[in-house]
Amino acid sequence: MRPFGTTVFAEMSALAVRTGAVNLGQGFPDSDGPPEMLAAAAEALRGGQNQYPPGPGVPALRTAVAAHQHRFWGLEYDPDGEIVVTAGATEAVAASILALCEPGDEVLCFEPYYDSYAASIALAGAVRRPVTLRPAADGRYAFDPAELRAAFGPRTRLVLLNSPHNPTGKVFTPQELALVAELCQEHGAYAVTDEVYEHLVFTDAAAPHVPLATLPGMRERTLRISSAGKTFSCTGWKVGWVSGPAPLVSAVLRVKQFLTFVNAAPLQPAVAVALGLGDDYFTGFRDDMQARRDLLVAGLTDAGFGVLAPEGTYFVTADVTPLGGRDGMEFCRSLPERCGVVAVPTQVFYDDPAAGRRLIRFAFCKRPEVLTEAVTRLRTLAGGR
Ligand SMILES: *Cc1c(COP(=O)(O)O)cnc(C)c1O
Repeated sequence: MRPFGTTVFAEMSALAVRTGAVNLGQGFPDSDGPPEMLAAAAEALRGGQNQYPPGPGVPALRTAVAAHQHRFWGLEYDPDGEIVVTAGATEAVAASILALCEPGDEVLCFEPYYDSYAASIALAGAVRRPVTLRPAADGRYAFDPAELRAAFGPRTRLVLLNSPHNPTGKVFTPQELALVAELCQEHGAYAVTDEVYEHLVFTDAAAPHVPLATLPGMRERTLRISSAGKTFSCTGWKVGWVSGPAPLVSAVLRVKQFLTFVNAAPLQPAVAVALGLGDDYFTGFRDDMQARRDLLVAGLTDAGFGVLAPEGTYFVTADVTPLGGRDGMEFCRSLPERCGVVAVPTQVFYDDPAAGRRLIRFAFCKRPEVLTEAVTRLRTLAGGR
């Protein structure tokens, strides 16, 4: 693990504290999730649900996870044997990779990738094979289908797919997913899907979110991952889950029992309550976040950035070159001094930093008054151009 230093989030958050800047670096909300969920957690805590829960997770949560996936995506999973509760999506990803990979196996992932992926692949002794997402002429991120095809080989064990995608805000299109599905089947590879932003696809996205597991031939080879943190604004709870065919999920459970054994006893029944909330919660959450996206995208555009408007997630990426920047890392290190805002450079999420050199990421999962203040500060950049 020697190559893995402290994350860029730690550096940029420390910078925000030192300079009093508005921190749009790390992607956590600054307000609480649904009150019904919080009340259920308090009740469970006071009601004595404070000891080790069952290994696969409390039955109420596994049942709720199954019902939720059926309700929104038409997917059927048996709560007994096809679902395991994990310590967030982070543990779910790590346990899935450790469960499916032998040392030397290759894991295909799209870069820029979520920062825990590289570490989890390394822990398994596996090898990562990145396929690069690049800004296209239409302002969306895309990959070259030939590059994806060429990345598959005899050692490809699995494809790790994150859609809606952090940090780009990309929602993979049905055509792109069909190609991933075709190649997985052609090469006998598994898929591990990170869908923590499943409820954050904006109304103007080119296509709705489609879980890869819903494509023909994919359910039996896919471990589907989600988590409560993003959907219910409780990133500190670390309650996630994996769904898939019983043999794969049982392999994940075998790993999970030696990573954390179990987690979050009193929070699990509360997340079950949240998953059962009415459609109004889920659409309200999305509309709210879409308005915040619009506020920040407008501000960044006015400030002079080359904005890549996201179709989903908490994040927007921007090109710093129209503002005279050449390197996102340098730009982010000076931004707090220049205008009192913190962002993160996305080059750290690529194997080849050159591909993301000019790009930086802002989070908009913050209260409107915080975003308004950030936008006011960012607009001063336009004057100094
Ligand atoms: C936030 C995030 C996670 C981590 O989820 P936890 O449930 O907090 O572990 C995983 N993947 C992506 C893409 C994320 O943005």
